[in-house]
Amino acid sequence: MDTLIITGGTLDRRHFNKLAAIGLAGIFPRRQDRFNFFSDQNLEVDSRRLNRRMNQLARFGANSAGGIDRVAFSDANIEALDWISGLLVESGFTPSIDFAGNMIAHKPGSEPHRSPIMLGSHVDSVPGGGNYDGQVGSMGALEVATTLADAGHTTRHPLEIAVFTNEEAGKTGSRALAGELEEFELDIPTASGFTIGEGLRRLGGNPDRLDEVRRREGSVEAFLELHIEQGGVLYEDEIDVGVVEGIVGIMRWDVIVDGKTNHAGTTPMDRRADAMVAAARFVDLVYTTARGMPGRQVATVGRLEAEPGAPNVIPGRVTMTLEIRDLSMEGIEKVYDEIGQSVGRIEEQTETQFAFERFYTSRAAPTEPRIREIIENSAQSLGLSSRRMPSGAGHDAQSIALFAPVGMIFVPSVDGISHAPEEFTEPQDITNGVNVLLRTLLEIDRAGT
Ligand SMILES: [Zn+2]
Repeated sequence: MDTLIITGGTLDRRHFNKLAAIGLAGIFPRRQDRFNFFSDQNLEVDSRRLNRRMNQLARFGANSAGGIDRVAFSDANIEALDWISGLLVESGFTPSIDFAGNMIAHKPGSEPHRSPIMLGSHVDSVPGGGNYDGQVGSMGALEVATTLADAGHTTRHPLEIAVFTNEEAGKTGSRALAGELEEFELDIPTASGFTIGEGLRRLGGNPDRLDEVRRREGSVEAFLELHIEQGGVLYEDEIDVGVVEGIVGIMRWDVIVDGKTNHAGTTPMDRRADAMVAAARFVDLVYTTARGMPGRQVATVGRLEAEPGAPNVIPGRVTMTLEIRDLSMEGIEKVYDEIGQSVGRIEEQTETQFAFERFYTSRAAPTEPRIREIIENSAQSLGLSSRRMPSGAGHDAQSIALFAPVGMIFVPSVDGISHAPEEFTEPQDITNGVNVLLRTLLEIDRAGT
């Protein structure tokens, strides 16, 4: 491919020529900014262009099921990034690939000393994924960029549009910006056939220099991510926009129940220490506890294995997982403690013993309260209904929240389906979300966070 190197990344020469052309056009702004200040707060995006670009993006990695196989580091992933970078150049941005493979496009603001406002999402998919997860936020950020360019509106803050690396299998790019990416992860194989480290090089990154992409606290004014809900709440309740209160924290444990292995035919019912019976009571306990407490916590036993695992043997050991999610880590611990209080009773009743080993923690990431308000007001100004809600799924915004105030906007997923070719969001809902994104950006630019 015919490429030029630009600060650690590559750009197609065709796009570079466009960049040069835009540079010249910039000398003759289409409109005078000062006349537009008040009307620009009411700018709206071009719905047809936005949804046309959604369809164009869907061609990269399209599969026969109507979805996409655009896993991180695949050719389709790289081609999609190249296509987007060309469109960003046309909107007056300068894209480059950072060492973590993130495509980040910059545009100066009228007050250069200010920290940038960043918007974006991801375009990589799970294998056999759909056309909306990550893509709505990426095309939304691009549409905001084009709308501002068309209106000749220059923001006070510099703008950054980010398409993050490998969201689906480890949030590699956004976690690198937060300094959270660990050395061992570079050797992890991915669905592309490349390890994460190899994949970063394919995108134009450099796994040896990840320290250099790390952002300091306070270096970004705000980060905004538009995303599909991936659940069915907004769709079922016919709400236009979700105002995300935060990305839930997750804790997972292995739960080991020890009883006594014995003959299933000769051991009377009153002389058993059946680990499976104890496990069954525990599964019910987890469900009723999480459901019975006030709040929106969720708890799940997702895997269960009995040993020795034969039809004619009383299980002497069961190993299962417990997962609890909540918007606050304290909330998670409250559920865990509540469950723990009843485990003793099950142990007594079944003559078994429980042990808990925590093996995974993902910290909750609350969004910035002030940005939630701005998102709500923006929705209202557009005549859209909104609702505050947690995000049960992880997102890039979760990593960015470690060093910057973040805001997240959800749009409805039809039937709540995601990570499948049937994933769908109505074009009008996408437009609504992008309009809210634009107005939120303009308000943060005007008033700060
Ligand atoms: Zn996503």
